[in-house]
Formats: sequence, C-alpha cells, structure tokens
Amino acid sequence: MTDKSKHLTLIGAGLVGSLLAIVLARHGYKIKLLEKRPDMRKLIVDRGRSINLAISTRGIKALDIIGLKDTILAKAIAMYGRAIHNMGGNVTFQPYGINNNYYINSISRSALNIDLLNECSKYNDIEILFGQNVVEVDFDNSKIITDNKDQYSFNTLIGCDGSASVIRSFYKFKPGFKQSIDELDYGYKEFTIRPNPDGSFKMAENALHIWPRGNFMLIALPNLEASFTVTLFLPYIGDISFAKLKTKPDIEAFFKTYFKDTIDLIDDYADNFLNSPTGHMVTVKSDPWSIGDKALLIGDAAHGIIPFYGQGMNCGFEDVSVLDSLLGSNNDTLSNLDLTSLFAEFFAKRKPNCDAISDMAYENFIEMRDKVGDTKFLFFKKIEAVLEHKFKGEYFSRYTLVSFSNLPYNFAKLMGEVNYEILNELAQNISDHNEIDFDLASELIKSKTKPLINKYASELKDLINDDPYKQNK
Ligand SMILES: Cc1cc2nc3c(=O)[nH]c(=O)nc-3n(C[C@H](O)[C@H](O)[C@H](O)COP(=O)(O)OP(=O)(O)OC[C@H]3O[C@@H](n4cnc5c(N)ncnc54)[C@H](O)[C@@H]3O)c2cc1C
Repeated sequence: MTDKSKHLTLIGAGLVGSLLAIVLARHGYKIKLLEKRPDMRKLIVDRGRSINLAISTRGIKALDIIGLKDTILAKAIAMYGRAIHNMGGNVTFQPYGINNNYYINSISRSALNIDLLNECSKYNDIEILFGQNVVEVDFDNSKIITDNKDQYSFNTLIGCDGSASVIRSFYKFKPGFKQSIDELDYGYKEFTIRPNPDGSFKMAENALHIWPRGNFMLIALPNLEASFTVTLFLPYIGDISFAKLKTKPDIEAFFKTYFKDTIDLIDDYADNFLNSPTGHMVTVKSDPWSIGDKALLIGDAAHGIIPFYGQGMNCGFEDVSVLDSLLGSNNDTLSNLDLTSLFAEFFAKRKPNCDAISDMAYENFIEMRDKVGDTKFLFFKKIEAVLEHKFKGEYFSRYTLVSFSNLPYNFAKLMGEVNYEILNELAQNISDHNEIDFDLASELIKSKTKPLINKYASELKDLINDDPYKQNK
C-alpha cells in the first residue's frame, strides 16, 4: 500500500515551487507539481514580473542545497555597488561593501527557472503538470479543481503560487485566518539597453544603475548577453505619473528632462512605454500559513514584498532552506513525521523575519527613490563605509547583514536601527567624514552593537574574514 503521507501536491512551478519540489524530493517525498503556464522550456511564456533579478547570499545558500550554486553563479553578473546617475549625467559609484568580495548577482529569471525545472526533471519522484490552472480548493474533501475541470485529490497541499495565490484565497474560509494585500501606488515598465555593435556593454556592467529622481526612478541591471534590463518605477497618479504620460511627445519630454543620458541608449523607449504592460507591486501578509497538515503557503504566496531590497526571491528561497533544515533535523521517519507541528514551527521561525524584510523593502524603496541623492543620507553612508572598514568585524551595515549574511532579517532590521543611532550621534557637529571622532565611535559600537552581535559571532566569522559567499561554500 502506498504511504499517503509521503505525497505532497505543490501549486506553482515558479522560482520557489520548483526549488521546493527538489528539496522535498531529496527528503523522500513524492511530488505532484501543478503549474498554470505552459512549460517555459518549450514555449516562451509571458514575461512574468521582471526579466532579471538580483540573487544574493540567502538565495545562493538555498541553491547550494540542491547543488546548483555554481551553475547559476556562472550565468550571473556580479554587481559590486550602485552607479548613481544624477540629472546632469554624472555617475558616482556607491560600493555595497568594503571590497569587491561584496556583490550581488544579476541573473535572468527565466534562465534560473528553467535550470530549476530541468533539475526537477532529474527526479523520478517529481511529476510536473503544466497548463493546470487551479481555480478551486476544497480543504474539507482534500480536492483541487482546475479551470479545465480537472480534479486532483491531495494529502498535503503547498501553495507556491505567488502573491496573487489562489490557494491563499481559499484560506479565508478558515476561522482565524488574517491577510492583508496592499498594492503600492506605483507601477513599473521595463525597457532594454542593447549591447554595442561590437557586443560590449553600453554602461559599466558590474553595477546596479540607478537614476533617482525624487518620487520616481529608473534602475538597470546587466544581462549576460551585454544588454541591460531597465525598469522605470513611477506613481500611477500625480504631477509626474503614468496618468500624465499618455502620448509619445509626453514620454519623450519626460525622458529628455529626467533621464537625458538614457535616451540614446534605450531602444524605442516611447513606443515601448506605450505598448508594454504596466507591472504592479503588492505587499502580502498572511497569518497563519498552514492549515494543520493539510496545507502550507510559502514564498510570495505567504509573504509577497515589494522588490526594492532585491530580496523577494531570496526570502522565498530562504523559506525553502529553513524547511529543509527542519525536515533534516527531525528524527522521525517520514510516515511518522508530524507535519502539523513542523509547519507551525516553520511559521514561527519565518513570520517575524518575513515581516522584517517586508518593512525594510519599503524603507529601501524610499531610500533608492529619493535618498540616494540626498546630502544627509550620503553623508551617513560615507560615515558608515568608514566604520565598516575601520571597525571590521564589529560594525556591520544593515545592507551587509541583509544581502551578505544568513542572519535573521529581524536581527538585520534591529541592527539598522542601532546603526542609525550611532551614525546620527557621530554626524553631530561634523561636516566631513574625515572628522569622525573614532574614540566616540569605538565607545558607541562597544556599548550598542557588540552586545547584539555577540550572539551571532560564529555566523559572522566569514563576514569578518571578508568572504561573504564563503558561508555558502
Ligand atoms: C519588478 C520586480 C523585481 C524583482 N526583483 C527581485 C530581485 O532582484 N531579487 C529578488 O530576490 N526578488 C525580486 N523580486 C521578487 C521575486 O520576483 C519574487 O519574490 C519571486 O518571484 C517569488 O517566487 P514565487 O515562486 O513565490 O512566486 P512566483 O514567481 O510568482 O511564481 C508563482 C508560480 O505559480 C504559478 N501559478 C500562479 N497561480 C497559479 C494557479 N492558480 N495554478 C497553478 N499555478 C499557478 C505561476 O504561473 C508561477 O509560475 C522582484 C519582483 C518584481 C515584481
């Protein structure tokens, strides 16, 4: 007789679903993975949410579990910092860390998803069914129905179906379930900067380019074939907004005023603006994520965040790492494994951290949008860079902890608050970072930072040794 407890049904073969399927198969589960879109390895499917994304330490750690780290990193471009383009066309570089060991990686979303799907296909215990759009979930009778009326029974259902999760939408019939879905009042459009005729990049390739313009901005991430994917983030309504850019001359005037240095770089930007879809961004919070051992939400389905820390996928991949370690640390055999408790423990571990990165993503939105050009902010960043060098191993910026460590997001958030107090105090009465009072800095770090980082001393070792990616080797 088949042991039903070993069968799991996953909905959504996106980034998190396909990675999770592999991790669960490695733990001995038999996986049915249903995906609404056609197989992207055979057909170009709709462009999805962004053409490329930044993967950093947390995401890479999860890929390492399934042995794909090096394959994926070989297809990525290292970005060592932000290249800030001002209105006059001058570019300044803000490094992410104290040296070039600190970088995030620009990777094609579809290439990553395809590699994960190919990896899934290597496992006999993973069955992927494409073109299966789940529209109804009946938890009481353990049944799902697709839009073409196919029915599947399930033992345990895992919703990896993204921020607009259909699985989550059926949780609302369960008493006590809470969710919030907040749409950002900004949308985005994507453009392309093609390579030079000789195949070279048109801008510095090892950077995340930003054109901060007050309450809107343009960013660009490099692609392996020497192009850049450019994203314009703009409010829906207001003086400068999508509502005001309706004709080709409107758009041309807008780009000429605010992004003059890009107009010769981006192909057909005005036509592209008019003819391409506008992307939307939401923050999703939900509680709880599981229904006994019947169902679990994971990735964006449980906690969609806005993209401004480059952490949505990294956070979803970290969910998978945490689930992997919970399954690994459990001594019970699979058939005896109490999934109800395991899912509850997963939620208890992840929820505070996913809430923390959600808040930080919003703060980073404000930071990227209008502070990267702000004098006080830049001064604080300069002081912070000096402290990270001078007090290596004692002072860590929030960005470093989020992007280059696997320490809990809520710890990074707390450290960010403490760091701000330190920077604020050090910035009093000085106007140049060469005037920093290092005795005071040392005292502040000793009294405020040290007691907090002591708890994570061993995890911080690789950062102290200047090799943030070593922790995943
Ligand atoms: C503009 C933008 C830029 C971003 N940049 C970054 C970045 O740089 N770094 C980063 O870490 N994150 C980034 N993110 C966030 C990242 O895209 C998401 O966090 C990540 O895609 C979440 O993965 P997921 O698998 O949970 O959901 P998704 O990627 O949304 O995948 C869900 C899957 O479920 C399928 N599905 C949906 N509904 C159903 C259904 N009813 N039945 C069957 N299948 C279904 C979908 O077709 C899809 O394949 C960005 C997001 C945006 C919008």
